[in-house]
Amino acid sequence: MTHMTNAPQSTGGPAHAALYARHRAVMPDWLATYYERPIEIVRGEGRRVWDAEGNEYLDFFGGILTTMTAHALPEVTAAVSEQAGKILHSSTLYLNHTAVELAERIAHLSGIPDARVFFTASGTEANDTALLLATTYRRSNQILALRNSYHGRSFSSIAVTGNTAWSPTSLSPLQTLYVHGGVRSRGPYAHLTDDQFIAACVADLDDMLGQANGTVAALIAEPIQGVGGFTSPPDGLLAAFREVLDRRGILWITDEVQTGWGRTGEHFWGWQAHAQAGPPDILTFAKGIGNGLAMGGVVARAEVMNCLRADSISTFGGSPVTTAGALANLTYLLEHDLQGNARRVGGLLMSRLRSVAATSPVVREVRGRGLMIGVELVAPSTGEPSPQAAKLVLEAARERGLLIGKGGRPANVLRIAPPLTLTVAEAEQGAEIIEAALQDAAKQLE
Ligand code: PLP
Repeated sequence: MTHMTNAPQSTGGPAHAALYARHRAVMPDWLATYYERPIEIVRGEGRRVWDAEGNEYLDFFGGILTTMTAHALPEVTAAVSEQAGKILHSSTLYLNHTAVELAERIAHLSGIPDARVFFTASGTEANDTALLLATTYRRSNQILALRNSYHGRSFSSIAVTGNTAWSPTSLSPLQTLYVHGGVRSRGPYAHLTDDQFIAACVADLDDMLGQANGTVAALIAEPIQGVGGFTSPPDGLLAAFREVLDRRGILWITDEVQTGWGRTGEHFWGWQAHAQAGPPDILTFAKGIGNGLAMGGVVARAEVMNCLRADSISTFGGSPVTTAGALANLTYLLEHDLQGNARRVGGLLMSRLRSVAATSPVVREVRGRGLMIGVELVAPSTGEPSPQAAKLVLEAARERGLLIGKGGRPANVLRIAPPLTLTVAEAEQGAEIIEAALQDAAKQLE
């Protein structure tokens, strides 16, 4: 077992304890934090971050899939600083050169013909807008969504979030019909082949549409469920869904908040794994595009985007600073073929983790695409999903200087999503730490 030479030494002093006490006293109880002693991150560079005590960590969660290229990427920092020195905010009531240029590039990249782009300040606001468009365009408040989905924390995005661990209310402004197509490793469809799985999901969709009350506005789906545990449906599922939707004029919203910008390696967007399905009617994005800046957006063909009749803006959507940073970030991503890097380094990391998994009694499955890798954990004694194992692995990895995420329901899946500039050496270093952390967890669960 190899340890990082600079693995964290400090365990947090009184200053850390005091800050955490203040955090708990003033923040909501439901605000999620990682670790028994949450880390105070104060600096980042490349694929690494440092905490307030000077400990260094390799970041395999990329912020929370927000750091798409790298922490403190000089190109993004320079663009943001330059713009911040001129003006921080002007709003969409005025023209903004970088917003127009960024929108043109995203419209082109989206593959949606005659596309219009609306910038928001988050993924939640992007999905909220997509739902507003779809329900207005189709004059229906019925929405199809995948079981176990996560689409945000506004009232309407919660209403299409099937993962109950992430939807804090069951009151709903929408009528949502949940269909199969997300989680595959468990449940009634677990034993099916890809083709059988697709057929079963389509039958479920048909069944749900039979139960709908007249017009259905849209299906919203993450091509790979993020919070849900990096579940990858078989290629072609969304194409099969699309056929059914098209017959009824139902719109398809693809939520690319986690899967966009080449993270999945083979494709620029997650939906493209189901090529015959596309292009979608509406695409939403956020997280990685701003490399940590608060930015999201919606792309839709003009007919759908322009169905709203009232004047409307997002005060912070498309602001000069966020669009300057996002444009620099996107330019870097494309010029350095980070999608290709996600494919190559992600492939190596995936096979390395699969060989680790082969001998680990706590790993049930390693899955995903590119640099979006999920490791599903179970209790060695029962083979049942083990959120406890995920907790132990996260803590053990942190002790060795590696940050990873978790998800799934229950939260038994490690989520690995480093910045897309990850090097082979860093992938190897992270895999070694994960291997050691899995061994630790297995011992503690014995
Ligand atoms: N959609 C997906 C797929 C997400 O993973 C998230 C956040 O995790 C959201 C939407 C909500 O985005 P935000 O937290 O920026 O509002």
